[in-house]
Amino acid sequence: MTDPAPAVTTANADWSGVKTSPDMPVPDQMRAWVLGEPEELTLQDKPVPAPGKAEALVRIDAVAICATDLEILTYGTPALIEGGPPFNKGFTPGHEYMGTIAALGPGVDEFEIGDRVTVEIHAGCGQCKRCRMGMYTSCHNYGLNYGDQDKGHRANGFTTDGGFAEYAVNNINTMIKVPDTMSDEEATLVVTAGTSMYGLTELGGLVAGESVVVIGPGPIGLLAVAVAKALGASPVILVGTRENRNAIGKQLGADYTINPKDEDPVARVKELTGKGADYVVDCAGNETTVNQSVHMTNRGGRICLAAFPKTAVAFDLGALAVNNIYLYGIRGEGRSATHRAMAFMAEKRFDARLVHTHTFPMEDLNTALRYAKDRVDDAIKVVVSMRQNSKAAEQAAE
Ligand SMILES: [Zn+2]
Ligand SMILES: [Zn+2]
Repeated sequence: MTDPAPAVTTANADWSGVKTSPDMPVPDQMRAWVLGEPEELTLQDKPVPAPGKAEALVRIDAVAICATDLEILTYGTPALIEGGPPFNKGFTPGHEYMGTIAALGPGVDEFEIGDRVTVEIHAGCGQCKRCRMGMYTSCHNYGLNYGDQDKGHRANGFTTDGGFAEYAVNNINTMIKVPDTMSDEEATLVVTAGTSMYGLTELGGLVAGESVVVIGPGPIGLLAVAVAKALGASPVILVGTRENRNAIGKQLGADYTINPKDEDPVARVKELTGKGADYVVDCAGNETTVNQSVHMTNRGGRICLAAFPKTAVAFDLGALAVNNIYLYGIRGEGRSATHRAMAFMAEKRFDARLVHTHTFPMEDLNTALRYAKDRVDDAIKVVVSMRQNSKAAEQAAE
């Protein structure tokens, strides 16, 4: 399994001024999954990247698979390496990971070697208008981190090497300490909850007592239910066609669930809320759900679009305009929302572990991806662990 070292497009190799510890020796080489042609991931050896100023090296302990990983493997976007598609560039995807700090870049004193951390994805360039507003997931210099274009942008697993590897470099602003009471697997879900949080609070302005509907019980939708409930939204309503997922939504805080196979979601939401919902989070993003969102939102309410449809979607723009409804997209987890999601999870305000269904060892990444993609065995959140754990052992014993 030692193919020739691939071109390392984004990794820093300058170890001067980097602090390491004999307690956590850092090897020169690591195993990393590398994207070749679309859908083609191979396990290769790569140099361990060096952390620069304001960065740390994280030994990855667990990484969750996201629908966006599956998109990247097939379409390339939204990953962008050297200004183009991420194929055959030595790129390592994977972005929802956690681990242990193994080395500190020059001047870093915010963390210590040995700290368990989970990460947010986007560091942004720190110098554009959106980064200065805290909207670093919408950085104007997205993907500009090479050659003469180098603006220092980082989005691990998108524009820089990510977490399907033994090590990754992170900006200190993208790391959050993990309490001892939280498992590796649960810690990988903090960034997903952070994305839901960003959509509801920073971008949406949700305050306690407002009604929230979530359409689509995927990981972001289910954790949007949990975050909305923890923020005091009332009622919280989940719309989904899979009863097992709706049941998890109830455990996470949904006051009501609606199965569109059984009843009209728009009529039912109006019945439950009076004049329609204050907020609708559409995690499906198809013609049916976008129109349902428009028609179930009350006058002056807000719709958050959390899905990335690949084709144009027709919807009732007139109803949106005449009802003074606000429509906004969400990309990732800006304004440190992930840090605040961790505060909820550390206090056990909701049990994100309910969305974690499967764990596989790193060598079985391709199987893990298949479980996530085909929803094998009702998979919701599939985690790849670098350290065999009890859940993997349980599965192996079955
Ligand atoms: Zn993701
Ligand atoms: Zn920026």
